[in-house]
Amino acid sequence: MLHQIKGLHHVTSMAANAQQNNDFFTHALGLRRVKKTVNFDAPDVYHLYYGDEHGTQGTVMTYFPFPHIVRGRPGAGEVGETLFSVPKGALGFWQAHLARQGVGGLVAEERFGEKRLRFSGPDGDGFALVEKEGDTRQPWAGGPVPAAEGVQGFHGVSLRLRDGGATAELLKFMNYEAVDRQGSITRYAVQGGNGADVVDIEVLPDTAPARLGAGSVHHVAFAVENRAAQLEVRKALMETGYQVTPVIDRDYFWAIYFRTPGDVLFEVATNEPGFDRDEDSAHLGEALRIPAQHAHLRAQIERVLTPIAD
Ligand code: ZN
Repeated sequence: MLHQIKGLHHVTSMAANAQQNNDFFTHALGLRRVKKTVNFDAPDVYHLYYGDEHGTQGTVMTYFPFPHIVRGRPGAGEVGETLFSVPKGALGFWQAHLARQGVGGLVAEERFGEKRLRFSGPDGDGFALVEKEGDTRQPWAGGPVPAAEGVQGFHGVSLRLRDGGATAELLKFMNYEAVDRQGSITRYAVQGGNGADVVDIEVLPDTAPARLGAGSVHHVAFAVENRAAQLEVRKALMETGYQVTPVIDRDYFWAIYFRTPGDVLFEVATNEPGFDRDEDSAHLGEALRIPAQHAHLRAQIERVLTPIAD
């Protein structure tokens, strides 16, 4: 069994509009944009990263805004909901704040003994803010949301699967334990994690497969400390029968990817080198960063990308 996984690293999703996506995460949710770069495989598309002050692992929501992409169809085989942690007592603030921002789908409810506020992102993304006990992570204090109420990072993700069995086995192999169950949802948690510790599996046997599009999660990344730990994880997964990509340099972390039995794409990403590797931590996310292999395309990329107003 693996012991290197420390919770989530980041969640990456698709959006239809970069400006709208930026405004939602920085204004409505009050996260810090910690990187403005482009998609490695499609350098004419932004890759936007939002998180805490430093872009700490377990706080980073990332987006590929593909202009005019059609909306995804929710279904099985995907992350159904991304959960953010907020301080105890903060949901009253959020209910009023998100309503004022025109955010849709607001539903206050309770699950696994936690108060939560469900809401939709600009492309129908499934989100919830959860009042989590004992989360000591510091929200970004430089945005419009007061730090006393701010988002502390991910609480976890909820996977929507037709059959949860093999994915549950995988999570156990990754050092997650089943800790609770409510209806069709089982909660798994990793011990000694970074705060983004929870993966829920919701089993919906009769649900049609999801179709990837705007508002869909593209993949969910788990955190390991460094490249040595990542290689150990890669080897162990391959010995268990998973097809895992070679290690890929993502500039701010190193990544490996594998498809899970429930059809969700998992990544394992390193905490090194981090988002301050190519810009001052006081100015993270301000300038457009172009990966080295695409640096010669900068003029062309800047012509194609619509500038984002802060
Ligand atoms: Zn990723």
